[in-house]
Amino acid sequence: MTGWNWVYEGYEPGEEKLREALCGLGNGYLGSRAAAPESTAGEVHYPGTYVAGLFNRRTSEVAGRNVENESMVNVANWLSLTFRIDGGDWFDIDDTELVEFYQSVDLRRAVLTRRFRCRDDQGRTTTVTQRRLVHMRHHHVCALETTIQADDWDGTLEVRTGIDANVKNTLVARYRDLASDHLELLQMMETDDDSVVVETMTNQSHVHLAVGARSTIRRTDDNRRVDRELVESDRWIGHDLRTEIRRDEVVTIDKVVTIFTSRDDAVTQPAEEATRWLGRLGTFDELLDSHVTAWRHLWNRFHVVVDDERTTTIVRLHLFHVLQTLSPNTAEIDAGVPARGLYGEAYRGHVFWDEIFVLPILNLRIPALTRSLLMYRYRRLPEAREAARAAGFAGAMFPWQSGSDGREESQQLHLNPESGRWNPDATHRQRHIGIAIAYNVWQYIQATDDREFLDHHGAEMLVDIARFFSSIAEYEPSRDRYVICNVVGPDEFHTSYPGDDEEHGVDNNAYTNVMTVWVLARAMDALDRLTPHDHDELLETLSIEPSELDRWRDITEKMFVPFHGDGIISQFEGYEDLEELDWDGYRRRYDDIHRLDRILEAENDDVNRYQVSKQADALMLFYLLSVDELRGLFERLGYRLDPDTMPRVIDHYLARTSHGSTLSAVVHSWVLTRARRERGMELFFRALRSDVVDIQGGTTHEGIHLAAMAGSVDLLQRCFAGVETRDERLILNPNWPDELGMLEFNLRYREHLLTVQITDGEVHLSSASGAPAPIAVSCRGDDTTLESGNSVTFPLSDRDHPTEANRP
Ligand code: BGC
Repeated sequence: MTGWNWVYEGYEPGEEKLREALCGLGNGYLGSRAAAPESTAGEVHYPGTYVAGLFNRRTSEVAGRNVENESMVNVANWLSLTFRIDGGDWFDIDDTELVEFYQSVDLRRAVLTRRFRCRDDQGRTTTVTQRRLVHMRHHHVCALETTIQADDWDGTLEVRTGIDANVKNTLVARYRDLASDHLELLQMMETDDDSVVVETMTNQSHVHLAVGARSTIRRTDDNRRVDRELVESDRWIGHDLRTEIRRDEVVTIDKVVTIFTSRDDAVTQPAEEATRWLGRLGTFDELLDSHVTAWRHLWNRFHVVVDDERTTTIVRLHLFHVLQTLSPNTAEIDAGVPARGLYGEAYRGHVFWDEIFVLPILNLRIPALTRSLLMYRYRRLPEAREAARAAGFAGAMFPWQSGSDGREESQQLHLNPESGRWNPDATHRQRHIGIAIAYNVWQYIQATDDREFLDHHGAEMLVDIARFFSSIAEYEPSRDRYVICNVVGPDEFHTSYPGDDEEHGVDNNAYTNVMTVWVLARAMDALDRLTPHDHDELLETLSIEPSELDRWRDITEKMFVPFHGDGIISQFEGYEDLEELDWDGYRRRYDDIHRLDRILEAENDDVNRYQVSKQADALMLFYLLSVDELRGLFERLGYRLDPDTMPRVIDHYLARTSHGSTLSAVVHSWVLTRARRERGMELFFRALRSDVVDIQGGTTHEGIHLAAMAGSVDLLQRCFAGVETRDERLILNPNWPDELGMLEFNLRYREHLLTVQITDGEVHLSSASGAPAPIAVSCRGDDTTLESGNSVTFPLSDRDHPTEANRP
């Protein structure tokens, strides 16, 4: 099978942490970095295992201030395993002669393999193969199989295997001044001859966490004696397994691990569950079977292939990480979309607007998962209402960064590593987070027609978000328009106008203003869709008077949108008055100018002074809405959106964007594909490279960029295949260049399991048998209905031919 292996040949200490993130394993309940089992946290290695939604809050003193931060907690290290020969030194990969090293992730089966041959200081050569899994079906279970072969020696082999509770959250160097200690040790115990359990508790949120490990030896000659000894030190417990081994002989150690917390459902006490389940689980191979079956089912839903093998592999790697962070297991727990996945500490596991890039691929494959991720928001609606009230507004103001209870988790101060200064962080003014949530609710309902969700949760969220945006909009009589002031748009570089040291945000961010109109219109649509009974009950519950709805309607006709020059949508009011940056000069002086905010601050300057954007902002409008929809919104507001506006707006901002976020390439690829496809493909390949070549200059080791990964797959689905779910139909409008061969993927729409294939100037759609009702499908104005078990082919006549773009 090609396109399923992510491979590294040779050991590179300098790259190890990046590989730990890119080869990380997870199952949506927990995630674990691909750290060397014999390693502890340091320069080269960083073992880290995290449980979805498990946070702890600490206060730290930085720059003379007490700041509070909530972090996703690094739990006790279950991997800990090393070996030695004849009582010599314990194996350490950084202190041995490596004859060979190979590491690969089998994406199809979700198994990480590490194989090496090493020679010790006495010239003895040993071959070690380790396979590892984080079980996709039994989500409390992980396993590590270690096979040790004595290539040219006879002697005593000792294996030390256990659980290491000596862990902290110290992966991200920028957070080094913040408290990193989250776990109190409660107990360490040997539960039987092969097993140990460690129980810890987070020191603020008081969540109990139990990690259990059962280590057994399998060998060719079963009669050979194995001595076991319990080893206990400060915060480490495990066993030394000792046995004789002869030249060419192989010994296999099966380490089966259980992880439970007091947040889990159907659990009496975590340590008790960890112990009980250790006794029931089979060998590594037995566990592998059911793990692979679960993955086969997932891959069936998420099947994607393009002709180019390297592209297919990266797309699969991206899906692999999305599914390891968010899987059907996540649908059972109270967790959101962590921006950096489940095996890194960047952004402390917080939940941002990134789900707007992730949910589209889940909506059309595991809608129950999207629903659960939306419920993460719904459960935090009371907190969002309280935040709005405290700030003097109505409705629900969701936090820019969200964690356990839904309060604002954005840091108050952040460290600029370029200058060493701690500066105030005003990015929490990104009110557009509420727009993302409303957008996701609406898209989910469009894709699934889940009326029950709309009636009980969705409409309420939409209405409360709409209410918030209506309350931050102010009517300005002199313009006869509504304005929204003091916000930060998706471009986080602009947190104020030049000279405003308090960082009050900017006024009339075009994205926020236009999407406010969209949100208000959709909230009214949602109310219209409710039965009269549910409609009245919701209005009564939220005390919504007809006059409030009149105001919403008025805003959708009179919202202000800033323009400058020849019809260019201004990112915010006054953007065009800022200074132009000497881009060439900065490119000459710095190797990497993605983070111009940091560079300028270190030069005692301020990025707020310049027409420089971190990422797509005004262009987000074209990313989220079709040109028709956008034109409709502008017309309703009395503005004209000329057909040539889009390419001009794109050029304007592309020339002024540093792509300091991996999301930027996704959005630019999308909009460029509609305007100038050749450049669009270039940025698509750039989005594919984001993490695999660590495009942001060293951030991937702190955690993968989940939204860029999901967004790149979404580009295939929604941008290049042009899949839309709108007006009760599935719409296809492909933009896929013939030169790239075939594009094929599966999706689910209204109970149909569909395969879309775009090739040779046509698009072919087939539906597997079993779905109850036919669906309406259309492609470039050609409308039809598709019954389950049937297929339909649409010719694509008007295709143009771009030149080959740079592939990753
Ligand atoms: C981006 C945000 C994003 C966050 C988390 C930031 O660098 O500017 O748009 O939500 O990262 O991924």
